Amino acid sequence: MKMPFSAGRAWIELDKAALHHNIGVLSGLLPSGCQLMPAVKANAYGHGAVIIAQELNRAGVNAFCVATASEGAELRENSINGEILVLGYTPPQQFPLLQRYRLTQTVFDRSYAEALNSFGEKILAQIAIDTGMHRLGFPWDDLDQLANAISLPNLQITGVFTHLCAAATTLPRDRDFTRTQGKQFHIALDGLKKRGYQLPASHILSSYGLLNYPELGGSYARVGIALYGVLSNEDDIKNCPVDLWPILSLKARVAQVRNLHKGESAGYDLQFTASRQSRIAVLAIGYADGLPRGLSCGVGKVLVRGFKVPIVGRICMDQTLIDVTDVPDVSPGEEAVLIGKSDRQKITVYDLAKQTGTISNEILSRMGIRLERHIL
Ligand SMILES: *Cc1c(COP(=O)(O)O)cnc(C)c1O
Repeated sequence: MKMPFSAGRAWIELDKAALHHNIGVLSGLLPSGCQLMPAVKANAYGHGAVIIAQELNRAGVNAFCVATASEGAELRENSINGEILVLGYTPPQQFPLLQRYRLTQTVFDRSYAEALNSFGEKILAQIAIDTGMHRLGFPWDDLDQLANAISLPNLQITGVFTHLCAAATTLPRDRDFTRTQGKQFHIALDGLKKRGYQLPASHILSSYGLLNYPELGGSYARVGIALYGVLSNEDDIKNCPVDLWPILSLKARVAQVRNLHKGESAGYDLQFTASRQSRIAVLAIGYADGLPRGLSCGVGKVLVRGFKVPIVGRICMDQTLIDVTDVPDVSPGEEAVLIGKSDRQKITVYDLAKQTGTISNEILSRMGIRLERHIL
């Protein structure tokens, strides 16, 4: 059969045109003076950090955020240019990575800032300010601590940022909370300015911030999920009608096809029993690849030859059974679509998220490292 590339057992196809479309749409929403700083943490939400960042570099994007120092190091090892902001905690044992790979480390309280300073080498850093999420960050009204961190001699501070935590809607409670976050951030910035600290960059927006509260401004929009062409919940599209295109398709190869007589079972724990003469196809993908095990036993569906068929029995670590009784001529070697399109049928990441009680971010970011990634 015809294969567009040498995809083996299970793989991700990335739609390059969709990525560029999303870059264009999101760039068009940026407030003045604001640039994209895409979040490519967690392997670019499962898409493949190096492939995505390379494509972004080519599109002129020159700032990124990641969660860990090793994620940043991987980008540098693959020649990614621009500022790479590590949003999360880097343990002192890994401070050398920050220097070696010119990564910008987030500092979020006094003792962490001092630990980083006492590493003894000049390190790029940004200051996280907590305006209400109560995750990482200096309290917004603790100017003394903020000023102290900024003046540490070995920290070269390139910016200051906060993170919105209720920006997914513009309902009154969320809107009030978000606006308060914005106000408090600006009070902190003004206070620092009065003390003579003018920082090169300040930023506040992530995907939902950019979509719902662009007026909050900033030097960067740290867009993650929206760049990948989806929102966290499908219902949020109603609140922010923006034309984003999903980038990722998830596919796997049919390894074997077998017949089952009525009454025979398949898979672990005898969870599927054929209620008729059946044909079962074995897919070369499992929960270790990021296919949620909660899709087992008919909860999830798969596309084969344009037909939507159920997953049967329990999803295994490396393999998955589907019922192809109603699909003509399924044979080993052909492809099944777990996320994406096949003829007129489509399965979205939202379907998987709903079926397993989570958000698209979790489904995507758990796509496994065994999956090949191809950009087409
Ligand atoms: C993950 C993350 C982002 C990106 O969030 P999206 O909602 O995916 O756009 C931005 N900022 C911080 C601090 C984050 O942790």
